[in-house]
Amino acid sequence: MSKKITSIRGMNDILPEQTGLWQWLEAKVGAVLASYGYQEIRMPIVEQTDLFKRSIGEVTDIVEKEMYTFDDRNGDSLTLRPEGTASCVRACEQHGLLYNQTQRLWYTGPMFRHERPQAGRYRQFHQIGVETFGMSGPDIDAEVILLTARLWKALGLADKVTLELNSLGDSADRARYRDALVDYLKIHVDALDGDSQKRLERSPLRVLDSKDPGTREVLKDAPQLADYLNDEAVAHFEGLKALLDASGIAYKVNPYLVRGLDYYGKTVFEWVTDALGAQGTVCAGGRYDGLVEQLGGKPTPAVGFAMGVERLILLIEQEKPELSAPVDVYVMAMGDVLASTMALSEQLRDALPGRAIQLHCGGGSFKSQMKKADRSGAAVALIIGEDELASNSVMVKPLRGQAEQQQVSRDQVASELVALLADN
Ligand code: ATP
Ligand code: MG
Repeated sequence: MSKKITSIRGMNDILPEQTGLWQWLEAKVGAVLASYGYQEIRMPIVEQTDLFKRSIGEVTDIVEKEMYTFDDRNGDSLTLRPEGTASCVRACEQHGLLYNQTQRLWYTGPMFRHERPQAGRYRQFHQIGVETFGMSGPDIDAEVILLTARLWKALGLADKVTLELNSLGDSADRARYRDALVDYLKIHVDALDGDSQKRLERSPLRVLDSKDPGTREVLKDAPQLADYLNDEAVAHFEGLKALLDASGIAYKVNPYLVRGLDYYGKTVFEWVTDALGAQGTVCAGGRYDGLVEQLGGKPTPAVGFAMGVERLILLIEQEKPELSAPVDVYVMAMGDVLASTMALSEQLRDALPGRAIQLHCGGGSFKSQMKKADRSGAAVALIIGEDELASNSVMVKPLRGQAEQQQVSRDQVASELVALLADN
């Protein structure tokens, strides 16, 4: 026997027993996004490598070591998207969606990063992202945060996540702060962990992100980015906090919050949980006013976020939500009744839109069909044998609850089912 081919490490199949939960989540998120007037955009999964290098930044973990980059048959360097923002900006710019107008957009789909796979961290993972363009004030920052807060309510996660905020100022603020931070960290370099020592040279702000206890101790007395912000950035941040206060959204200002992507400035935020171990960030975003111009467009203010769907699913699974069964009615065919049973199933699909009618295929004994009916999760089985066919009737057998089975004439079946399924 030849060796079986398996999936690629860190790239997961999402099996039928899980897709119900994914669809439930996607429907909830879609409804919340629609309630704020956001529109969906769909971008390709593969882009030119330069798009990500120029946006995410050459000296970032993603670009330096996580991208799936390859030459296609023409020798062009292509990359499986590691995130959606860059593609979204590219698409909007390419199709003139940013000219003299505002946009509120969302997307969903797989992203690819060559990381070390573990719970909550995969090589193919899924994000739902939101990007807004053309609005520079703190009002839109507050709106996207309110939208996420509403999402957690819709998903039953409001008690599990908390909001952290910071302001990164503009690039001049960050440059001045970077110098001060580097000067300070150099004095304490021996107390830093190895990763942070490397980051000190190449992207010192990422040291703020370190989880290492020694490094965190050093950071306690480090210069604070908040003291380096320009007046406008400070006013923007105060404006955002005032709007969140007025909306009753709790948050914590985390002066160490920086993002692993270069394009962020001013507002950054994360929704974090302590229920997922080290992979605690379920949603992350912020303002990126410089990115559109950096990719060749006119200066355009922008703010957005992305959430990790797998991490949300892990959180929701902890709550053990009740999902509706994939099948409502299981139709059993005993004996030479196939054409008639198939016709009845089609009629019921017309009569009961939104209900799942599964027809037993492949014959078999009453016992084995009954077993399958039970296993399907259906609330009702319909049994049609040759006697029922002759008397133009159907045996209706409730599979859950107390109701008795009863013989119903064929033209009454649909209304009988409506009554039986009423509280499913
Ligand atoms: P982390 O610090 O966990 O590596 P990140 O800063 O790299 O996250 P972003 O690029 O901001 O993450 O992506 C937004 C969200 O996408 C994250 O908050 C997380 O929920 C999810 N995410 C990122 N990378 C992965 C991954 N490899 N596997 C699963 N989810 C991920
Ligand atoms: Mg990462």
